[in-house]
Amino acid sequence: TPPPGPEDVLSTPRSVPGACFSRARPAPLQRPRLVALSMPALALLGLEASEEAEVEAEATLFFSGNALLPGAEPAAHCYCGHQFGQFAGQLGDGAAMYLGEVCTAAGERWELQLKGAGPTPFSRQADGRKVLRSSIREFLCSEAMFHLGIPTTRAGACVTSESTVIRDVFYDGNPKYEKCTVVLRMAPTFIRFGSFEIFKSPDEHTGRAGPSMGRNDIRVQMLDYVISSFYPEIQAAHTCDSDNIQRNAAFFREVTRRTARMVAEWQCVGFCHGVLNTDNMSIVGLTIDYGPFGFLDRYDPDHVCNASDNAGRYTYSKQPQVCKWNLQKLAEALEPELPLALSEAILAEEFDTQFQRHYLQKMRKKLGLIRVEQEGDGTLVAKLLETMHLTGADFTNTFYMLSSFPAEPSNSAEFLTRLTSQCASLEELRLAFRPQMDPRQLSMMLMLAQSNPQLFALIGTQANVTKELERVEHQSRLEKMSPAELQSRNTDHWETWLQEYRVRLDKEKEGFGDTAAWQAERVRVMHANNPKYVLRNYIAQNAIEAAENGDFAEVRRVLKLLESPYYSEGAATETTGPEAATRTTDEQCPYSSRPPLWAAELCVT
Ligand code: AMP
Ligand code: MG
Ligand code: MG
Repeated sequence: TPPPGPEDVLSTPRSVPGACFSRARPAPLQRPRLVALSMPALALLGLEASEEAEVEAEATLFFSGNALLPGAEPAAHCYCGHQFGQFAGQLGDGAAMYLGEVCTAAGERWELQLKGAGPTPFSRQADGRKVLRSSIREFLCSEAMFHLGIPTTRAGACVTSESTVIRDVFYDGNPKYEKCTVVLRMAPTFIRFGSFEIFKSPDEHTGRAGPSMGRNDIRVQMLDYVISSFYPEIQAAHTCDSDNIQRNAAFFREVTRRTARMVAEWQCVGFCHGVLNTDNMSIVGLTIDYGPFGFLDRYDPDHVCNASDNAGRYTYSKQPQVCKWNLQKLAEALEPELPLALSEAILAEEFDTQFQRHYLQKMRKKLGLIRVEQEGDGTLVAKLLETMHLTGADFTNTFYMLSSFPAEPSNSAEFLTRLTSQCASLEELRLAFRPQMDPRQLSMMLMLAQSNPQLFALIGTQANVTKELERVEHQSRLEKMSPAELQSRNTDHWETWLQEYRVRLDKEKEGFGDTAAWQAERVRVMHANNPKYVLRNYIAQNAIEAAENGDFAEVRRVLKLLESPYYSEGAATETTGPEAATRTTDEQCPYSSRPPLWAAELCVT
């Protein structure tokens, strides 16, 4: 049914008090062209792989937004959010449109969404469009995360076009036109923490309120809808309660647990989200909204993947605490349907425990510790990360390589050489630790810190200055160092950690009896938990550059690769052991080796 009202009303920016969804309509694209399909994602909707060719033509038409699927009723969702720590008021789907739901034979329901389909009531000053590069990144990463086993929204299709928008200006002052591109996203729901913030009373700092402030009737409806649709077990367990407080508490507890486990998974695979605002936090615990995300190459706990996150709020190591902070904001938004004292108690009880437990469980598997947990396991993991940091080791490759750590100490020299050879070179480190402040600015800051500590504290840049001083110091050490010195220093660090690891492994072995069976099981678990391929920025960048030149083969090849991110027996041509297999596939696929030097300079906004 075509939505009522003139078309332009459906895309006029406005505040919509009292509405959770507003009708919208995709704006057509010129000459849509299919970039790629994810057949595993489309299969969830009942579209089979054998139909790929037929699906292509129809996908281009329907998933560009140029035609509406029968029964579709496009709408944009109203949500608010805390952006970078501040309540930002109404945001909403400014560049995404809900199309409807597909209820499958298996009893699942999938919401379909087009991202980049044109303006909605929530587009504010922007155009509701997305470009090829951001769409390819979202498309590939959604699917990559799924195949890594991490809860995520899915992506079924990526369709580009000859319609263009301007996102940037070249150095010569000419505008840079980019191709409008649409991604078909799928999830049980796209409702976020921020969806509940539309009922929020004025913020004490900003004075802003949610557009539906005071509409407790809608808040109750929304909560009922979310719990009964997406947490049916919780709804069922509380149907006889006299009020909904216990039900709502159980719901908040479950959201807390899922969120804690999700972020633990991120930490274990080196994923940085980049924009952890409350409007990018899924109410069902999925990774949602892939923007300037990044996977760690060289391990650096302070890595910031979002170029506009100047204060480093969403640094890799801060993700768990930020997710907890976001849950606190959700708790505040759920009042009075869930009293804050109760939700805060749940958060305190659940978050850290769930995070720690899940993190350690996963890390133990990554290290191949398959027997009962021991006292020092957490410390062993922490020391591994510290060693990776000190030696500039590649996160993904280090974990992957550990599965080929020889069971016999006599064979470990070759392993040590391989391990240290994937640590960052002197050149890379010098690049990574080059000072970022103007030296004059730094010395002025230091003078201010001495002469007027209060004012210095007030401007809130201590953390930046401390980091800069560390960089300067580290840089001067690197300047004096030779490659041979770096190598021998790295070897020392790794020898120390590997010794501890060996001691820990020996304890596992003792308890197992059959050494060969233990070794095989250990390696199996490690292979299933340490990916060989993640969507590194440079891999996405290669696919984007080819696609911008009209060649989508690389996007499709990378998608295939990311569909099987873990070691698989069948993929190797030699099966005499994991080392042999690693070498064989490395030659065939450059993406499992270290990123090239230029990757360190990649900047995503
Ligand atoms: P994000 O940082 O991606 O979570 O987006 C923050 C807000 O900006 C959300 O309300 C988005 O819908 C909106 N937004 C992002 N990109 C666009 C765009 N191209 N046009 C309109 N709104 C957008
Ligand atoms: Mg968003
Ligand atoms: Mg976004």
